[in-house]
Amino acid sequence: MRAARTILESEPLPLADRPLPPAHPFDYDSVLEDGDTLHEECGVFGVVGVADAANFVALGLHALQHRGQEAGGIVTHDDELGFNSARRFGYVRDNFTSSAVMETLPGPIGIGHVRYSTAGSKGPTQIRDVQPFFGEFSMGGAAIAHNGNITNADALRRELIERGSIFQSSSDSECIIHLMARSLQRDIPARMEDALRRVEGAFSVVAMTRTKLIGVRDPLGVRPLVLGKLGDGWVLSSETCALDIIGADYVREVEPGEMVVITSDGGVESVRPFRPQPSRFCIFEHVYFSRPDSIIGGRSVYETRRQIGVELAREAPVEADLVCPVPDSGTPAAIGYAHESGIPYGMGIIRNQYVGRTFIEPTEQIRNMGVRLKLNVNRALIRGKRVILVDDSVVRGTTSRKIKEMILDAGAAEVHFRIASPPTAWPCFYGVDTPKREKLLAATMSEEEMRQHLGVDSLRFVSLDGLYRAVGEAKGRNTSCPQYCDACFSGEYPVEPADMIEKGFRLKAAE
Ligand code: SF4
Repeated sequence: MRAARTILESEPLPLADRPLPPAHPFDYDSVLEDGDTLHEECGVFGVVGVADAANFVALGLHALQHRGQEAGGIVTHDDELGFNSARRFGYVRDNFTSSAVMETLPGPIGIGHVRYSTAGSKGPTQIRDVQPFFGEFSMGGAAIAHNGNITNADALRRELIERGSIFQSSSDSECIIHLMARSLQRDIPARMEDALRRVEGAFSVVAMTRTKLIGVRDPLGVRPLVLGKLGDGWVLSSETCALDIIGADYVREVEPGEMVVITSDGGVESVRPFRPQPSRFCIFEHVYFSRPDSIIGGRSVYETRRQIGVELAREAPVEADLVCPVPDSGTPAAIGYAHESGIPYGMGIIRNQYVGRTFIEPTEQIRNMGVRLKLNVNRALIRGKRVILVDDSVVRGTTSRKIKEMILDAGAAEVHFRIASPPTAWPCFYGVDTPKREKLLAATMSEEEMRQHLGVDSLRFVSLDGLYRAVGEAKGRNTSCPQYCDACFSGEYPVEPADMIEKGFRLKAAE
């Protein structure tokens, strides 16, 4: 007989007592200038067919921490104890390492989620917005974890509430559970198919029942999801770096529009619930979001970023003495730029690994120290040199200005910015937190105006075609049918952001 389900949750701490996670190593400016960097909103991970699945899920989430640092959660199922869940604010390492927590998560199947908020609660996140979400259906329970953003969530939520659904969270992902509850299908995978056919936007979903691990990507495959093998068990993960940490073998990507259903006896079924469409993977995963040690589409992310630097050096050469990365995300592109240009590479900026948000929160005076808390100039290297600074992107430009000032204060003769992505002129509606369009520097200024605003000797961005070449498209971007989602650069949204249009957002064609 199936035991009663027990759901164990952490209660939300009062706001003042909540431990704020330290900045992620790649995320130096999140502690400096709110809204001056793009944030991936989530990472998902799941495993089936192994003893103590929760331990593997925790390790996988730890490897995916760069995709979301605000909160994380794990759900497992055990034949004796049923479904168990723990959801917490903060880093995985601070929450899912103690035996007191991990012993509450027994069983051979589990899924997990790390979260960076915005699609859910506006303002401070509530524990009810932290995934995985759980639903109890007539045929058994199911938990889901979602990476991406549902672009018709407002309309779906209105419809579902009118028809009697009671939402627990403010997250768009909860719509999937309610749509599943309304489906008349007889098993959970079929109910998921029904639900996801109503959903628009970007979704990589990892879900579980008592005996099945399920992974689904939206028809365009905007967000990543890979399949791995761990002994007799199977793994689903946002990125391959999380397979490496648990010693799992990479098998393949879950394909755009594919649902894989993995049973606890090791069977894998592939289903195609959606109308086939050309894929539009997020090109920014290559530039910034994914870890450099991950593999995407058979390509090393590190190598792609290095190649972006090569393209930048070809497109935007400049006479200089030194190529410096803005650490850490600009590093591979700077290495590529230096290699291609023949200009020496050097670590002109050194990052302090140990500055956390908690340290800079207390006073305005400390906050105003800004970038110097996190990054320091290697004066001996910089002094008197014409410096090329390579960064991954320019969002609002506030951090770039401060870095430029530091470099000039250290005695640089010239500062040239080279950016390893095209100008970010449009917001993302597919699971990446971007400022409103009017806050994006490139939305309101030409390249020359941006150069003047940043106060640098030259500013150049890699072209869209150059970026496409760097990700392996030798002929560049196919303008009639782009191979990737590049909406934040081009303004061409592969899925119309219905909710945002209703709220007044104007598409490029309407401008
Ligand atoms: S809009 Fe930009 S960040 Fe968002 S999915 Fe498309 S390429 Fe990625």
